Amino acid sequence: MNTFEKLQAIKNQDLKATDNLESFLKKIENNNSSINAFLTINKDSARNKAKEIDDKIAKGANVGSLAGLVFGIKANINVEDEIISAASKTLEDYQSSYDATVIKRIKEQDGIIIGMCNMDEFAAGSSTESSYFGATDNPAAPGHIPGGSSGGSAAAIAAEMCDITLGSDTGGSIRNPASHCGVFGFKPTYGAVSRQGLLDLSMSLDQIGPLADDVSGMAVALDTIVGYDKTECTSLNQEFPVFTEVINQNSEKLQDYMKDMKVLCINQFSDVTDDHINNIIDDSVAKIKNMGAEVVDSSFNYIDLCLPTYYLINYVEFFSATRKYDGRKYGYKIEDVCGEEVLRRIEMGSYISQQEFSGKYYKKALQARSLIRNEINKLLSDADLILGPTVPKLPHKIGEKLEPMEMYAYDVLTVIANLAGIPAGSMKAGEYNGIPVGLQLQAKPNGDVKIIKAMAALNH
Ligand code: GLN
Repeated sequence: MNTFEKLQAIKNQDLKATDNLESFLKKIENNNSSINAFLTINKDSARNKAKEIDDKIAKGANVGSLAGLVFGIKANINVEDEIISAASKTLEDYQSSYDATVIKRIKEQDGIIIGMCNMDEFAAGSSTESSYFGATDNPAAPGHIPGGSSGGSAAAIAAEMCDITLGSDTGGSIRNPASHCGVFGFKPTYGAVSRQGLLDLSMSLDQIGPLADDVSGMAVALDTIVGYDKTECTSLNQEFPVFTEVINQNSEKLQDYMKDMKVLCINQFSDVTDDHINNIIDDSVAKIKNMGAEVVDSSFNYIDLCLPTYYLINYVEFFSATRKYDGRKYGYKIEDVCGEEVLRRIEMGSYISQQEFSGKYYKKALQARSLIRNEINKLLSDADLILGPTVPKLPHKIGEKLEPMEMYAYDVLTVIANLAGIPAGSMKAGEYNGIPVGLQLQAKPNGDVKIIKAMAALNH
């Protein structure tokens, strides 16, 4: 049953919201101690909400567009009364007093929030191994990392512990774990989803987005969370498409979406990617050609600039964002209790932020960011989509020691969308030795709907 069908079944009283919730709670009870996708579960509030929805439906009252769907939320997005730890000891006792804008919208539409998902500490990582609360296993490839930093959000979907999760994506943190766990993940255009209530990693790059195991789940989630928020200064005040309308079509229409789309494959993306991943992506390329897409080989000349530019900006913005964790208002002083990667970013960020160095590093990074953004926009000005791998390597085994640069290398294909502010999504393209491999689709700013269309066509 896909998400549309489930919503309908709940409305028709063929499936009770309560039963939907209980079946997830059972999976969590059986498997979360080994997978560690959820840090906290709030059974009581979830059960109350499910019952309220069933009662409303039984009475024939109106319910919201998410009525009965169960959500897991990354532990860096504020949900009232929950522990928003960002998987750090720094905030281990921080109980939130408010709902982020995205959470308000989910609650207004009768989504049920079941708990908070594991992640890399403060979202700084690509493996979910830096969580203070322990690593998350990959349900699709046990013993391997689920990717990160939204590893708990992706694992919760892959382990069928809820319908939809939210993650945050600063340099790939939704798409990377979606790829490694074999699920759908989407980073909207910068400003399309309000960041109000998200703990910043790097505010000029962060976006909230959904993960799910089918395209209709992605569409209902996007319709809820996308939209202008006057309390958030980077929020876009404009019209947004209705994603569910695009998906709610017969299968012929969905396949037709690829017809006449011009899709770019970038040589430098495959150059940095392992061969067995490239082979799987080639199969997807063949598939879209069959559906009538025009595929064009293309070139992006700044691939070597992407990681240094991303990490310099990330260090500086993260350093600034962490100054509020000085031990007075929230828990501990961050430098006293944080893990190695968070400390590295704070120290580097502090160093680069000093006046004498900022011209040398930070200003250069901003210039490089403009170059990257302009080049990507130029490529997309004459095309609908860029298609390629999401992550250049397969996930490593949990606990394997990687140098920082090796860990950063996972991000080379995902940071581009954040630097350029463009939308990007990942979906499963195939498997290598039983390990999922994701393909990434990117479009120009506000081209989010084209990605969802292509996902729907490819999923057929
Ligand atoms: N892996 C990247 C980093 O460590 C991306 C993190 C993210 O998107 N939150 O910064």
